[in-house]
Amino acid sequence: MKNENAEIWPRLIVLADMNAFFASVEQVDHPEWRARPIALTNGNIGTCIITCSYEARANGVHTGMHIKRARRLCPELIQVSSRPQRYAEVSTHIMQALARFTPDIEIFSVDEAFLDLTHCQQLWGTPDQIAHRIKQTVYEHSGILCSVGISGDKTTAKFAAKQNKPDGVTIIPPWQARDSLADIPVSELCGVNSGIAGMLSRYGVHRCADLQRLPISVLGKRWGNPGRRIWLMAQGLDPEPVKTGIPSVQSIGHGKVLPPDTHDIESIRVYLMHMAHKLGERLRCNHLVAQQFLFGLRLYHGWLKTTARSLLPSDDEMVIFRLGNRWLTDGWQNQGVWQIRIVALDPKAPCQADLFQRKHPARERAHLAMDQINRRYGAMTLASARLVDRSRMPDVISPAWKPQGHRRTV
Ligand SMILES: [Mg+2]
Repeated sequence: MKNENAEIWPRLIVLADMNAFFASVEQVDHPEWRARPIALTNGNIGTCIITCSYEARANGVHTGMHIKRARRLCPELIQVSSRPQRYAEVSTHIMQALARFTPDIEIFSVDEAFLDLTHCQQLWGTPDQIAHRIKQTVYEHSGILCSVGISGDKTTAKFAAKQNKPDGVTIIPPWQARDSLADIPVSELCGVNSGIAGMLSRYGVHRCADLQRLPISVLGKRWGNPGRRIWLMAQGLDPEPVKTGIPSVQSIGHGKVLPPDTHDIESIRVYLMHMAHKLGERLRCNHLVAQQFLFGLRLYHGWLKTTARSLLPSDDEMVIFRLGNRWLTDGWQNQGVWQIRIVALDPKAPCQADLFQRKHPARERAHLAMDQINRRYGAMTLASARLVDRSRMPDVISPAWKPQGHRRTV
């Protein structure tokens, strides 16, 4: 296995991307669904497809499609309730197994990880051997197939992993990265949004190769460091390291969809309380407090939003609920509501001063007990009485879910 004769790359970055991850987990757990078109929805009542198996994709079914339309395209489609906790668990197994290749691993999303094997090339072999060992490891730990892209930088590795799906391997040596990316539209590079792409098209830049004609300073002046990075990314020289640390938390939020056009203030209040509960619990479980909260209601024409400040940094659902409820009473004018969202902005570990001035010890003990019971017997086993009428819509797993850090809750 040792790579004694082969060439050592100056950098060797791998992207492992699980194929149709959630659907594949279901097909592994339910052998009767293997090789059949399945589509995941939010419970049995969900109507929007979260993701689907390759067999369903072959019939034109895709993420975001309405289940009725998907059934017309693919009458034998099997509707499956998504199980976020299970996907989180399988993801954790896979990521732990991948971490044995190198400590330099960045869990990019629930089903994607970057590995920096620059310093382990002699240990794991040629890029081709590395790719096959990674695929085998993922398969052994989950029964799931993955696509692997290997190159000398993150952008090209990600591009490579997309080339051969499902179950593919694409290796682009660093010295071929620039040519491989040349014909790719710049808008396909990770981090180039439609605004940046539109601006670049005014300079006649559409494909990555077009960017080479533009001096890096043009992008630097317009967008600073992110602009310079885009220029380098397009040449297969993405300097960004594989980030191994857990990024600091910028915000944590919870949201939920309401029955369309809800006008009843009491039922909106129940949703508000439910989200405040989830947010409070998540803050406490990550040992964080926040003082600024964003509240949002999605109305017919867009979001009605506000930010509110609590007197002291808090992780108490009643403090969060009261702030939101005050806004609901003053700021909402009986418009129809489609969705609700609460976000704790800039949460921090409580400092000494906060601890001194913090809420009543009795309340703190109650939270401790409630969180322990809910962790043991399932979310919302214990909650405020007014939440007995809350929505039973199951939770959804975010693609940004990670096995470590604040995103750990589903
Ligand atoms: Mg994937």
